[in-house]
Amino acid sequence: MSNVIVPRACTLCPRRCGANRAAGQAGFCGAAGSLKAARAALHFWEEPCISGKEGSGTVFFSGCTLKCCYCQNYPISADCFGKELSVSRLAEIFLDLQRQGANNINLVTPGQWQPWITAALDEARAGGLHLPIVGNTGGYETEESIAAWQGYIDIWLADWKYISPALSQELSAAPDYAAVTEKAIRAMLRQVGRPVYDARGILQRGVIVRHLALPGHTEDSFAVLDKLAALEKEFPGGFIPSLMSQYTPFYRAAEHGLGRRITRYEYRKVIDHAISLGLVHGYMQEKSSAREEYTPSFDLTGL
Ligand code: SF4
Repeated sequence: MSNVIVPRACTLCPRRCGANRAAGQAGFCGAAGSLKAARAALHFWEEPCISGKEGSGTVFFSGCTLKCCYCQNYPISADCFGKELSVSRLAEIFLDLQRQGANNINLVTPGQWQPWITAALDEARAGGLHLPIVGNTGGYETEESIAAWQGYIDIWLADWKYISPALSQELSAAPDYAAVTEKAIRAMLRQVGRPVYDARGILQRGVIVRHLALPGHTEDSFAVLDKLAALEKEFPGGFIPSLMSQYTPFYRAAEHGLGRRITRYEYRKVIDHAISLGLVHGYMQEKSSAREEYTPSFDLTGL
């Protein structure tokens, strides 16, 4: 049996919206009192040190604490599509992904379900789960939340999307995004330390900081990269930067001036800026990566 303390006035994320989830009330993130997920399967499109050849055992959780107008997973993030799961069923799913040969368990957007997921990890570990656990997040996390994942998450896969408060308000309804995310990423770096790989080059521990370059916003990408360069000086070799070009105009992107993909010229400028800052030890996606095949179908596979 699980011991999940369901929040009565939820403060699991920086929204601190106070939803009474124990009474079934949904918060800003769409999550209410019953754990929900939309897909659990091997996933091959993360960074090579996460996916490897075998795949990453990925569970896509329902709801999201950000409201990105271009979200490629919008059916589950914005509409909270998914299937209700018990904690024990989630523990079985983790073990099943391990049996399928996954390199890790990859928790996509787990923040709003933290008490349920840690209970499931306890149960799965008691049943033999030994894989590294990846916390795959938009970066918008409280320091308290990062602390609550201590001992559960081995690898943080965190976005740093924006610097401009006006831009993060317009695109993700979070004017405090950069300030919150900077603190969160520092807490992640302190928590898990420098990257550690196994003999096959699969990451076992560490932080990957991702930045998705958006069309028409190269100046803000430069500002994010400047922050990453400063962080690299403070934590030398402390994280793996990952620059992504795969932006595709999903959901309500066009309403917010993002109705096209990034051009080669724009992306080249972002890459050149990263190189000029010495951020060359991570990943830089090829421009040709902007394909919808990166988006899995949320058909409740594996649940
Ligand atoms: S996790 Fe959801 S319910 Fe909890 S504070 Fe954040 S938005 Fe509100």
